[in-house]
Amino acid sequence: MVPRPKVLIAGAGFAGLWAVQRLQNAPVDVILVDRNNYHTFLPLLYQVAAAELGPTDIAYPIRSVLRKSRNVTFRMGSLTQVDPATRTAWIDADPVEYDHLILAMGATTHFFGVPGAAEHAFPLRTMDEAVPLRHHVLGRFEAAAAETDPVLRRRMLTFTIVGAGPTGVEFSGALAELVHGPLGRDYPDLDLSEVRIVLLEAMDRVLSEMPEELSDYARSRLERRLVEVRLGTPVSRVQPHAVTLEGGDQIATDTVVWTGGVKGAIGPEAWGLPMGPSGRVRVTSHLEVEGMPGLWCAGDLAYLEEEGEALPGVAPVALQQGTTAARNILRTIRNEPLQPFRYRDPGMLAVIGRNAAVARVGGRNLRGFPAWVLWLVVHVAKLIGFRNRMLVLVNWAWNYLFFDRAVRLILPYARSVPVPPDIVGSRAPER
Ligand SMILES: Cc1cc2nc3c(=O)[nH]c(=O)nc-3n(C[C@H](O)[C@H](O)[C@H](O)COP(=O)(O)OP(=O)(O)OC[C@H]3O[C@@H](n4cnc5c(N)ncnc54)[C@H](O)[C@@H]3O)c2cc1C
Repeated sequence: MVPRPKVLIAGAGFAGLWAVQRLQNAPVDVILVDRNNYHTFLPLLYQVAAAELGPTDIAYPIRSVLRKSRNVTFRMGSLTQVDPATRTAWIDADPVEYDHLILAMGATTHFFGVPGAAEHAFPLRTMDEAVPLRHHVLGRFEAAAAETDPVLRRRMLTFTIVGAGPTGVEFSGALAELVHGPLGRDYPDLDLSEVRIVLLEAMDRVLSEMPEELSDYARSRLERRLVEVRLGTPVSRVQPHAVTLEGGDQIATDTVVWTGGVKGAIGPEAWGLPMGPSGRVRVTSHLEVEGMPGLWCAGDLAYLEEEGEALPGVAPVALQQGTTAARNILRTIRNEPLQPFRYRDPGMLAVIGRNAAVARVGGRNLRGFPAWVLWLVVHVAKLIGFRNRMLVLVNWAWNYLFFDRAVRLILPYARSVPVPPDIVGSRAPER
């Protein structure tokens, strides 16, 4: 019997899973590799960090997704190297031969070389970053409740978010609702006027990808929720208890959340692949890595321009590219001409909080309650798994009706960013 072509897919995010879906029951053998055994629905990750949802509400076990796929196997591990010449990839230390490989490892945080950012700021791109951030935020309230020095207490209660793109805006809004809702009731002895949520943005508006009218609306809604929005304010340094702004101003803070930049999730050596801006892999319009037949790339990791502009790192691009890459693999196997990728843009959405969102859909700008309802519907519909949809709906309904959050446990958890003991008035950091 002639062996069937072997397709390796690295990454079970949107691009990887949609590629798998297209290859299910096709005449190929598929191995899906991910360093985690679950898929994360990243658009709702900030809600895990803001204690609105639990990790299991937005993560789904990959093996459950694949239960009905006879030709797909899953392997938990990291893709550590690729040799396109011999069509060999390494999963951790194991070499695996492939006929076709789709690189779909997504993106990671880019700190732009700002001193101290990688060491002291909290990134927010993976589940194991969101959960420690949640513990840290809740832990700062516990520490502040026991603190008698007002200077230290204010620093503990100052939360700085760097980057006013969708994640920065959404997290700031959700944090403001957490603080001025449930935490306000949990800590009646804390003076909430000591809490500061500061959103720092180097550009001159928030949500710069959106039309200006929607940016202005988002900013005014954040300010109504007592978020200080500081535009045209690049960060020049992050320290354990402070962030320094270009120009020299300092904000005393124990919490810097970095949502300011992304780059492709590939090592600095990049295995000799042709690289585009922001550490993304250059692909042809068919999503094949330039000059490397059999090697494909889709999603946030792929660099492709349409009409002179790089395609954005958003979920619809990733899942459409995953499908096209898989289709083109099948066309290659059948000796058929390849299909170029054309992005069908469904629009953009961002939520500021209860009843407030912005949307650019079908050439129209929506804001406020209609945009918020649209945001809810789209996000629930896109979640993987009926159970997750139900859990998210129940949690949201509870939050909405009772102004409460179910997830407020501070669990022992390996911290991703240590808060060293205070220089002044040494106090042991919470775990
Ligand atoms: C906090 C946040 C909020 C977002 N909100 C929105 C939104 O509202 N709307 C929107 O359209 N987009 C949003 N995005 C962007 C969107 O999530 C991404 O564009 C999309 O997830 C990209 O899909 P992907 O498959 O390329 O990568 P990912 O979904 O990131 O998946 C990559 C997968 O690869 C795995 N992986 C990484 N490296 C390796 C390796 N070496 N070996 C094995 N596995 C590996 C990871 O574990 C992961 O499962 C958001 C992103 C973030 C981080």
